[in-house]
Amino acid sequence: MGLITPEQYRESLNDGRIVYYKGEKVENVATHPNLSVCADLMAIDFEMCEDPKYRDMAVMKDPETGKEISRYYYKPQNSDDLLKAHELIVKATELGDGFIPLAHDIGADALNAIEITANLMGNKDYMERIANYRKVLQEQDLATCAAVTDVKGDRMLRPSDPNQANPDFNVRVVKKTDEGIIVRGAKVHITGAAYCNDIIAIPCHAMTEQDADYAVAFAIPANTKGVRQICRPFTSHISSLEFPNSRPLRVHTDSLIIFDDVLVPWERVFLCGEWKFAATMVYNFALMHRRTGCSYRIPLSEQFVGVASAIAEYNGITKAPHVKEKMIDLVIYLETLKSLSKTACYDFVMRGGVAVPNPIATNMAKYHFAHNYHDVIKIVEDLAGGLLVTAPTYKDYQLPELRPDIDKYLQGAKHISTENRLRMLDLIRRITTADLETICLHGEGSPMAERMTIFMEGGKVIKECQALVEEMAQVDRSK
Ligand SMILES: Cc1cc2nc3c(=O)[nH]c(=O)nc-3n(C[C@H](O)[C@H](O)[C@H](O)COP(=O)(O)OP(=O)(O)OC[C@H]3O[C@@H](n4cnc5c(N)ncnc54)[C@H](O)[C@@H]3O)c2cc1C
Repeated sequence: MGLITPEQYRESLNDGRIVYYKGEKVENVATHPNLSVCADLMAIDFEMCEDPKYRDMAVMKDPETGKEISRYYYKPQNSDDLLKAHELIVKATELGDGFIPLAHDIGADALNAIEITANLMGNKDYMERIANYRKVLQEQDLATCAAVTDVKGDRMLRPSDPNQANPDFNVRVVKKTDEGIIVRGAKVHITGAAYCNDIIAIPCHAMTEQDADYAVAFAIPANTKGVRQICRPFTSHISSLEFPNSRPLRVHTDSLIIFDDVLVPWERVFLCGEWKFAATMVYNFALMHRRTGCSYRIPLSEQFVGVASAIAEYNGITKAPHVKEKMIDLVIYLETLKSLSKTACYDFVMRGGVAVPNPIATNMAKYHFAHNYHDVIKIVEDLAGGLLVTAPTYKDYQLPELRPDIDKYLQGAKHISTENRLRMLDLIRRITTADLETICLHGEGSPMAERMTIFMEGGKVIKECQALVEEMAQVDRSK
């Protein structure tokens, strides 16, 4: 079958999947007035493969078969592969106006994490299954999501702890049959699940022996019997209160996925009880996905630098010393993110036959982005001034008796029209919404998860530094 067109992708979604949105069961996500907006965003990945401008970036020849495949589903072997995937994600996100299309990238991160785990485990069955599944994804060009985050219940208790309010807070195996396994539980915040083809599920944290039933990884089509999704609500159109935008709205939704005793055939089971390897899988997923996440955030950070510069100019404050200071901070924020993201690719490590981005640099990049995000928003909101929230609406601006006054009184610098100033404020309002704050903080893992990984991975560096100073101080440990 090979690469598919955006139309084929949209048609593939009409498959009887069970999706709820704002209290209604959705007939077809690809034609639903709100969810089609998300599917259109995901379709950008398929459009890039058709567009001569981006084709070389998005498509490559499988070295084994010579067939054209999505670059995302190619197993990275070196820094060049990682960098090319990074550049593809940055460009795709730019085309999505700051939102990654997400048809393949997060699924690819899960796919690679599963392959690393199978290889490190040396389990021939799993190695064969994941290799076959990779071929299926390449040949059918399926859109995938990664269902990692369990609903978890009480965070301080193990999944199997009898004090948990119920045993299904983490997805688990409830039965094994000749055909496959039966899984039960729920995953939450799963971006793109409502309009992807396959859901790839892996554990979200390390497991103990008592948690063995929760050490489970698998892939299933989104329309599998027993799978139900409830989507996060969002505004599907630019409200008439704001300036009209001729560009399509870009937005994703995230699902609560309920696995109600779902049968997963054995050929799609990639972990089933090997509790020691749950940590390997989730760790490597987080590593790759944090690199992916940092690539998403580069275009968004560029937008922040851009709107700060624009609104400072429109307000006539560009030359003020404090504005220059703020612009320096924004450039440092952006360039640090870009440098760390690229360093993570150059300084890669091999794990289970897959090139993975440098663990410390990747986690530093994600932490840097999330930790400083609110400071960046503060700068943008500060430079924008109070009109950001008090500006009259577009409807007011349209009235002949008000427009001349609005034009006259709400102009900033002489060379910028009032309409342009109000449009920029409208854009700032959209890209600094509270939703994005949470996405930036928690998407790809909470900040503490990144700090813990840096501490763990930095252990060797810390020891080496201590040895260095002990030698300088001529410390004799035998004394
Ligand atoms: C918009 C969005 C999109 C997302 N997309 C996806 C996706 O596509 N796929 C996916 O799998 N996930 C996705 N996520 C999930 C994301 O990875 C999680 O939100 C993140 O890992 C935090 O988990 P949580 O939301 O359950 O918060 P929690 O883990 O409950 O974190 C809340 C706080 O509790 C602390 N905490 C949690 N556990 C402990 C503990 N044991 N000990 C001490 N402190 C603890 C955390 O550090 C944090 O401060 C998405 C999240 C968002 C917001």
